[in-house]
Amino acid sequence: MTERSAPCFSEVSALLRAFPRWTLFIHQKADGDAVGSASALFEAGVLLGRRVRWMGPDASLPLPYRFLPHTDEYLFREELAFDDTGELYVFLDSSNEERGVRGVGGRAPGTVVLNLDHHEDNSRYGTLNCVDPSCSSTTELLYRLFRAEGWTVTATIAESLYTGLVTDTGAFMFSNTTPRAHRMAADLLELGVDPSRIEAHIYHNRSLKAMALWAQALSRIEVWGKDGEFSLSWLSHGDFAGTGSQAADTEGLVNQLLTIRGIRFAMLLSELEPGRVKISFRSEEGMVPAAAVARSLGGGGHPRAAGATLEGTVKDVVRKVRSALEERHAEWAAAH
Ligand code: 5GP
Ligand code: MN
Repeated sequence: MTERSAPCFSEVSALLRAFPRWTLFIHQKADGDAVGSASALFEAGVLLGRRVRWMGPDASLPLPYRFLPHTDEYLFREELAFDDTGELYVFLDSSNEERGVRGVGGRAPGTVVLNLDHHEDNSRYGTLNCVDPSCSSTTELLYRLFRAEGWTVTATIAESLYTGLVTDTGAFMFSNTTPRAHRMAADLLELGVDPSRIEAHIYHNRSLKAMALWAQALSRIEVWGKDGEFSLSWLSHGDFAGTGSQAADTEGLVNQLLTIRGIRFAMLLSELEPGRVKISFRSEEGMVPAAAVARSLGGGGHPRAAGATLEGTVKDVVRKVRSALEERHAEWAAAH
């Protein structure tokens, strides 16, 4: 089967080759795709003789991804001063600049930003935007770029790419799992990826503290709606502090709510700082898209997996998100 390359690949490759120094950025609450993308592009840059840095707004990377190459070179940057010093700024898996770097204080004229992403709602903030929502993951976009441009994919790059692919497709079970995603997985296995090694790192690496946090959320699931199709749970700042858990420990938790029979829409509220509540939205086929509800609350994301952050007490935010879901769902149902 012939595959058309995204039209941006030759420009992206030319831009990356033109700069001797790259700084890679990933989004807040780094996931497997963000870490996998940066790890893969970091190594590709090193192989090309580039000086590469890697930064993001999280203080550290989640432990399950730290087996990937170059993760020990990740730097925490609350605020980034863009300057025009002949450096290329590459944003990975970040649908907007703010998600990549909090408090970006404006760029110096002449700063060059390369935006590599697969989010449909990407705001195209880059000097060059290579955004392809047909890709399951940003690592699928990178893999296609590397192949189209004839860049070497080493066994370690393959592991990083596979990590983004497997996590963003929910281990090849979400609706973004395409024949092309499976073909990419097959290629990566041929390059030496051991899926069980990656599975062990990513999915068999939960701390007991995180499990205690999950127990809190699983013990207070609310279910409602005409056919009992909506559900939510929440975690207060005290739950995080009391169990000694962090934001990254909720990874995968909201998806558990969807495994309850009949549930088609799930939300998890996490009070990450007192008065600041992060919400994760997940939806199934035949239900208002998660992204539509997230957008109406100032957030965004993929059609079926989206997020937003609201100010207020957990109780207030629960009330707000319940009514936003009910309203958006009623609108959606009337139009379908
Ligand atoms: P999660 O619920 O796993 O944190 O996020 C799921 C998806 O929602 C992410 O891949 C991202 O696209 C999007 N997302 C999560 N949080 C936010 C947010 O605060 N703002 C926006 N615009 N998108 C978000
Ligand atoms: Mn992604």
